[in-house]
Amino acid sequence: MQSCGMRITADQERAVVSSVRNELLVGGQWREAATGTEFSVVDPATGQLLCNVADAGPDDARAALDAADTAQPGWAAHPPRERGEILRRAYEAIVRRTEELSLLMTLEMGKPLAESRAEIAYAAEFFRWFAGEAVRIEGRYSVSPDGKGRMLVLRQPVGPCLLITPWNFPMAMGTRKIGAAVAAGCTMVAKPAEQTPLSMLALARVLEEAGLPPGVLNVITTSSPAETVGPLLEDPRLRKLSFTGSTEVGRALMAQAAHQLLKVSMELGGNAPFIVFEDADLDAAVDGAVLAKMRNIGEACTAANRFHVAAGLAGRFADRLAGRLGAMVMGRGTEEGVEVGPLIDEEARAKVAGLVDDAIARGAKAVVGGRPGDGPGYFYAPTVLEDVSVEALALREEIFGPVAPVTAFESEEDAIAAANDTSYGLVAYVFTKDLRRAFGAIEALETGMVGLNQGMVSNPAAPFGGVKLSGFGREGGREGIDEYLHTKYVAMNL
Ligand code: ADP
Repeated sequence: MQSCGMRITADQERAVVSSVRNELLVGGQWREAATGTEFSVVDPATGQLLCNVADAGPDDARAALDAADTAQPGWAAHPPRERGEILRRAYEAIVRRTEELSLLMTLEMGKPLAESRAEIAYAAEFFRWFAGEAVRIEGRYSVSPDGKGRMLVLRQPVGPCLLITPWNFPMAMGTRKIGAAVAAGCTMVAKPAEQTPLSMLALARVLEEAGLPPGVLNVITTSSPAETVGPLLEDPRLRKLSFTGSTEVGRALMAQAAHQLLKVSMELGGNAPFIVFEDADLDAAVDGAVLAKMRNIGEACTAANRFHVAAGLAGRFADRLAGRLGAMVMGRGTEEGVEVGPLIDEEARAKVAGLVDDAIARGAKAVVGGRPGDGPGYFYAPTVLEDVSVEALALREEIFGPVAPVTAFESEEDAIAAANDTSYGLVAYVFTKDLRRAFGAIEALETGMVGLNQGMVSNPAAPFGGVKLSGFGREGGREGIDEYLHTKYVAMNL
């Protein structure tokens, strides 16, 4: 494997794809789907086939849950230190294999290699973090208020979990759930997105090699997610659902999870406001905006979706941002120097194009971009829109692409009201040097996370998650493991 700075050859691409076991992992066995069918995985930069993977159906999903259920008691009793050591070894293996895992992810998802490398580092860090958390699952002991009894509180693994991950961060969304579940002593059925199953399959191999016992992690890839995982959600052996994806699917899954009253974590869509107050450091705000908008080609639930800028700065901010976005190199992510890859598929590109056209029809001006890119892949040019009407759909819907709508505000109150005028509540970005203003905004914003004078909040040591239609539950940080534990209280009569 060549490292940064060198050209990737077609042979290397083929080698990295064919190194993946394109089967289901059930109870420690790699095997075909029960139906014997497969589905195809495509490179979004070319539209060409990368490979086929097993296409699981409901019987495979049930077999995966059988395996998870069988492995659960032994895994819960596995020494916490050893659970942590497995994660630690997997962390080291991922870091060691950064180049091949990055190339694999770029091929199936499209993001530039530099971004894949950053995601691999981020993904690995969840394992390092949860390796430590495995040995810090604590309870408490207390004297009951009447002085007679004693109370003991313990934390136990919730049991078999279903983990459903999206295509935009194929590795990190896996490690963030799997790391916490492994640390807590839960077994799992993981179902990656149909667009990007290869990273999860590669991750499963890493964990196997790191010593994860058979049946603890089962992986099913499928082109029919609803039909395949539906029966699991009604199976009383499943105890937990952790989902990252769209609000629409999250809502439907939550309704299904109500059958067995599953413990649920939902990390859903966002519509992040990016507020630039008049006293902000403009250079820092533009740097932050480029990161918050363009990380992952804008295909992140944390992506800045709309820029609310103090009226006196808005024009200059839009021009500076347009200069930076317009200079970004678009192309196939495997090519060195490329900063903007393709969107995941034609539907995604059509949605982005529709939002831009709608904003322009309502009076917005494209300072840069405003059109799809060339080529067979699903490219859309980095775009800055100014004078965007409050009616524009781009301000209301999650764009999930490289488009930055800029609007101006007159007062601090107007800025906060505009920022909160959404049913989503994942993250907000605030740029100001004024402490009073910063804390005013932090406290008033209806979001699960705030980036203050920085364009990125993701950090394995921090609790990631949202409020409102962005979901609930936290991943990473000290809170992350709580999603996989329940509390048992013992009333003791001495
Ligand atoms: P996006 O719109 O970003 O593709 P989705 O919410 O459709 O996000 O997908 C996120 C994950 O949810 C993927 O793994 C996908 O396969 C899965 N998924 C989609 N629909 C369902 C469903 N009805 N039941 C279970 N999983 C689903």
